[in-house]
Amino acid sequence: MADQFAVIGLGRFGLSIANKLYESGRDVLGVDVNEERADEAQSYVTHSVIADSTDPEALKSIGIRNFDTVIVAIGNDIQASILSVLLLKELGVKKVIAKALNKLHGEVLKKVGADWVVFPERDMGIRVAHQLISPKVLNFIELSKDYSVEEVKIPEKMTDKTLRELDLRAKYNLSVIAIRHHDDIFISPSPDKIIDHGDVLVVIGENRDLERFANLE
Ligand code: ADP
Repeated sequence: MADQFAVIGLGRFGLSIANKLYESGRDVLGVDVNEERADEAQSYVTHSVIADSTDPEALKSIGIRNFDTVIVAIGNDIQASILSVLLLKELGVKKVIAKALNKLHGEVLKKVGADWVVFPERDMGIRVAHQLISPKVLNFIELSKDYSVEEVKIPEKMTDKTLRELDLRAKYNLSVIAIRHHDDIFISPSPDKIIDHGDVLVVIGENRDLERFANLE
């Protein structure tokens, strides 16, 4: 079923995924072994049930194989998280996303069939450190170990110039793919576009070049 999600484990992480999907109009089944957690989640998801995801019969009885995507957001119980992913894949769930606590846990989750493993604490830590190193970077996506896309606040001395004058490609080896001006976004901006005070550039390039650019005064 398209746009049908199940989230197993309704702690802070699971519930925030579940609720965001629900608010975006998706059908979300919340699952937790803990009755209180399942009850509390009622108003944040389409429907929530009490079930133990390490029990194959329980998974079958809630019709888990009918869900397109199942997110395993079990917190500290590594054994339960691994067993749940294994069972979900055995039952034929197409896409299983699982939260890992550490690298080894993540590797095991991949081995038992998780399609996507997420490391929320590690990733948030990296984002916070990134913000501290480059406060002008509002957002970023890592494309690979060496390349990223970043949203960078324009340094003051670069304002009131055109993209051609700034010539970021030659000077910093960076390509500007969009400009955000207040609430407007200009995709593939023309070289004659003038950069205003407070504009945000969306740039793509090598991390060391991005860092050099984002740390300009
Ligand atoms: P967070 O750090 O995201 O708040 P928690 O460890 O508090 O994570 O939450 C994990 C949730 O997963 C808990 O509500 C717990 O009851 C639930 N959970 C743990 N094991 C199972 C299981 N086998 N089946 C279903 N839910 C489970």
